[in-house]
Amino acid sequence: MSDTPQGEINAETTGNAAEGGAKDFIRTFIDEDLATGRYTHVHTRFPPEPNGYLHIGHAKSICLNFGIAGDYQGKCNLRFDDTNPAKEETEYVDSIKDDIRWLGFDWGESEFYASDYFDQLFDWAKQLIGKGLAYVDSLSPDEIRAHRGTPTEAGRNSPFRDRTVEENISMFEAMRAGEYPDGAHVLRAKIDMAHPNINMRDPTMYRIRRAHHHRTGDTWCIYPTYDWAHGQSDSIEGITHSICTLEFENHRPLYDWFLEKLEVYRPRQIEFARLNLSYTLMSKRRLLELVKEGHVSGWDDPRMPTICGLRRRGFTPQALRAFARGIGVAKRDSMIDVAFLEFCLREDLNTAAERRMLVLNPLKVVLTNYPEQQEEWFEADNNPEDAAAGHRKIPFSRELYIEQDDFMEDPPKKYFRLSPGKEIRLKHAYYITCDEVIKDAAGNVVELRCSYDPESRGGGTPDGRKVKGTSHWVSAAHAVDSEVRLYDRLFSVEDPADTAEGQDWRDLINKDSCEVLTGCKAEPALAQAAPETVFQFLRQGYFVADRRDHTPEHPVFNRAVGLRDTWAKVQKNG
Ligand code: ATP
Ligand code: MG
Repeated sequence: MSDTPQGEINAETTGNAAEGGAKDFIRTFIDEDLATGRYTHVHTRFPPEPNGYLHIGHAKSICLNFGIAGDYQGKCNLRFDDTNPAKEETEYVDSIKDDIRWLGFDWGESEFYASDYFDQLFDWAKQLIGKGLAYVDSLSPDEIRAHRGTPTEAGRNSPFRDRTVEENISMFEAMRAGEYPDGAHVLRAKIDMAHPNINMRDPTMYRIRRAHHHRTGDTWCIYPTYDWAHGQSDSIEGITHSICTLEFENHRPLYDWFLEKLEVYRPRQIEFARLNLSYTLMSKRRLLELVKEGHVSGWDDPRMPTICGLRRRGFTPQALRAFARGIGVAKRDSMIDVAFLEFCLREDLNTAAERRMLVLNPLKVVLTNYPEQQEEWFEADNNPEDAAAGHRKIPFSRELYIEQDDFMEDPPKKYFRLSPGKEIRLKHAYYITCDEVIKDAAGNVVELRCSYDPESRGGGTPDGRKVKGTSHWVSAAHAVDSEVRLYDRLFSVEDPADTAEGQDWRDLINKDSCEVLTGCKAEPALAQAAPETVFQFLRQGYFVADRRDHTPEHPVFNRAVGLRDTWAKVQKNG
């Protein structure tokens, strides 16, 4: 379901009550809980695993968790679920915090780490052992898998399942003390190997693993599994509503079982469908491979669905939050059209982005009747939609650049741009007429000789004659050499996660998704652009001053989105 128009998206999911839409099912549950007194307040959390950069799917979860906390005057914790030392790094922790802040959310003092609970979790594990509800198993990982059974077949008990409490306690202590090699034993919950829910078939709680942890260093050589850590972390933090994606629905009975047996506070878990976007891969593993194998320039490559990538691409926090609101939350998986994401950005930029002129593929124009040493400065409005955006000065001189596409030697009918003998308007400046076409030895057009009408200054003439075409241009004497990067979708198929048998997902990468144009000509005001400012380049779309590469000496702009649905409007303004 790719070409879902926005209306349908809203019909099948529901929006955010605070934004005036219908209330979504999560907020409906929360209202019930407050009404029945099950909880007296709302406390959510966003629980990233610091093993990669955040992507647009996480943005949905962040907007949801922080949004709900905001709506109910509650709190939202930022908790790093850092239970897997092998894949986690401080670099990821820092980037995650940056991205959440940039999105516009604030967790105040409420920054927590599952690793801060390692001692508590260890004690609780011993409590379960003491109650006869956990045991040390010495089967190998393969044997454990073989004993687990299948969805239709019961599993089998491990031969080590009936160790005494004393033996379990002393072996578990020895595990922690480093007396066994990695993988020799695990601690498992003792539930039911015939349980219809496989997650309840004696799930693993601890593994021996000598790995350096980004926070606890080498203090531990056993690490809790996500299943053992997650629910307890929520409980410790007093989370009321633990909002997570659908794949955890089958884990809920296990989380509840742990908390019930420990006799501690229980949050309510509510699941929603994770975001899937067309033409986009969102698996962290794949994103890491894209980076490591050099298919993209880094986590913040503007083609990446990461928050930092989208940011370099010109996305604004407002646009991402509007997107999250627009797609709402649902109970079943679906695919959102990436065009809706682009629509949200265009909506945001349309009124806010200032206009500038930049020539992507320059063609030189010499105005033969314009005095050689003369220059003029025209005043141009920054945004015709917003008088408060003010004006800027644009220099004009005898030699200019226009877009190669804005000239045709043998134009078809209804071609309103420049061609031999035709007259057009230069935006904010004069009318010009093409008198002569200069070509190189190979027959390529390299220069146009034109004449300007001095009476047309500012865009009209005393005789009121009409010209249909308007071109953007840049004064050659003042032009700033710039680089522009045009991006297309990184994947050429709608669902890149859906590879055919024998097909490598890498084959689906769109090799032409980054086109770099050097030698573009920018009006002087663009050299000073602050990084991350998004402009509408007249006739070309929205472009952002690259936050990484942009300098006044070497301005670099990434295309945020093309014009498409705003095209007609821009032509009118032009
Ligand atoms: P991993 O496989 O590494 O666990 P993950 O995508 O689940 O990957 P987490 O860091 O665990 O990454 O995710 C943090 C939170 O973001 C979780 O609550 C998760 O449910 C949510 N989340 C992750 N991906 C999406 C998505 N595509 N749509 C909505 N929420 C998501
Ligand atoms: Mg996860």
